[in-house]
Amino acid sequence: MTIQLYNTLTRKKEEFIPLEAGKVKMYVCGPTVYNYIHIGNARPAIVFDTVRRYFEFRGFDVQYVSNFTDVDDKLIKAANQLGEDVPTIANRFIQAYFEDVSALGCKQADVHPRVTENMDIIIDFIATLIDKGFAYESEGDVYYRTRKFNGYGKLSHQSIDELKVGARIDVGEKKQDALDFALWKAAKEGEIAWESPWGLGRPGWHIECSAMAKKYLGETIDIHAGGQDLAFPHHENEIAQSEALTGKQFARYWMHNGYINIDNEKMSKSLGNFVLVHDIIKKHDPEVIRFFMLSVHYRNPINYSDELLENTKAALERLKTSYQNLKHRKEASTNLTDNNQGWLDKIHGLEAEFVREMDDDFNTANGISTLFELSKLANHYLIEKNTATEVIDAFTNLFEKLFAVLGLSLGAQELLDEEIEALIQERIQARKDRNFQRSDEIRDQLKEMNIILEDTPQGTRWKRG
Ligand SMILES: [Zn+2]
Repeated sequence: MTIQLYNTLTRKKEEFIPLEAGKVKMYVCGPTVYNYIHIGNARPAIVFDTVRRYFEFRGFDVQYVSNFTDVDDKLIKAANQLGEDVPTIANRFIQAYFEDVSALGCKQADVHPRVTENMDIIIDFIATLIDKGFAYESEGDVYYRTRKFNGYGKLSHQSIDELKVGARIDVGEKKQDALDFALWKAAKEGEIAWESPWGLGRPGWHIECSAMAKKYLGETIDIHAGGQDLAFPHHENEIAQSEALTGKQFARYWMHNGYINIDNEKMSKSLGNFVLVHDIIKKHDPEVIRFFMLSVHYRNPINYSDELLENTKAALERLKTSYQNLKHRKEASTNLTDNNQGWLDKIHGLEAEFVREMDDDFNTANGISTLFELSKLANHYLIEKNTATEVIDAFTNLFEKLFAVLGLSLGAQELLDEEIEALIQERIQARKDRNFQRSDEIRDQLKEMNIILEDTPQGTRWKRG
């Protein structure tokens, strides 16, 4: 079986055929770092991290590049408002981005290129477009000549005439045609700026992704991904820039994730329902947020609410409990071999089912349903009086494998000091009550979390191992 994925470019599910056998070159548009990321930015981070993990699970070597837009109008505005310079703000929010997405279980990209560190290749890219007649300079700005690019609109499936209706020339723009877009913007007085053949200025937004994808992944890449809102104009413009420059296809597959609503409303600053990841991970376990995002197919819209997160939390807990129960039973299990094959077949059958679902355009929603099947089967097996180590291992291995693909951990939560104290008090009471089973359970639980207990004449002491 091969992986099928929905390609926005063809509007079809297609078989994934890599440019180079066994490799995936993947570029995911990253954030503009002028603020903390909101829950809408968290979705592509989680979704495409999972796509990457799944490719790796299926034996591919993935090269994953995701950029930071560390200079643009929003950053300049933030710098003016806060009385700080652009690099200070950008560095602060790049740091915060890493903290937030790593809490959400996302691996770092192989490269996180920044605009300000790639100014030379961006300027070269623009200069070549001018040489080829696809761009022109106008009073210090440079614009892309959209009409010249045959096929503009092919990603968002719009004709140039349809696009013309919505196009306009904003105040201060010096372009020849309303459809043209900026590749380079002349600096205003006092703005952060770089030297270029067209005077002091900075790049437009779209050019950075074309230039950095080419530098780090090559002229043609396998997968270009991002939120649905980026398909037009950002990705459409990237195609126009890159394909005009190289004459080759830019990205073979385009993947876009769906929108997020908050309590059934569109998230917007004016509605005051802007949810920052930095805030919600203080209120909710970030792993629950990740599990929640993956419980809906990435192309479908997702509705976020505190209540839904609570339900998700309970569901994730059920899976983890199932796994913990298996682990606890392992010691009491034997080398019993009768009757194992039937169980092993069922377990392998569920692994195959998970792969089938994920091969079908990364259907994590159905993949998670398979995990619940696995949990049900495990609970059923644990009712058997005599359990076999071989079967228990097959269960726990599969749990571990599938959780890793989804970027979730099976380990118990790290306990806070007061939670450890409470467990120790409960253990003391259990011993007083001669409830040794409970007292041992607590000791084992703490041991698993690397908490070492020491019973002394002065009482029980503990330390982290
Ligand atoms: Zn981009």
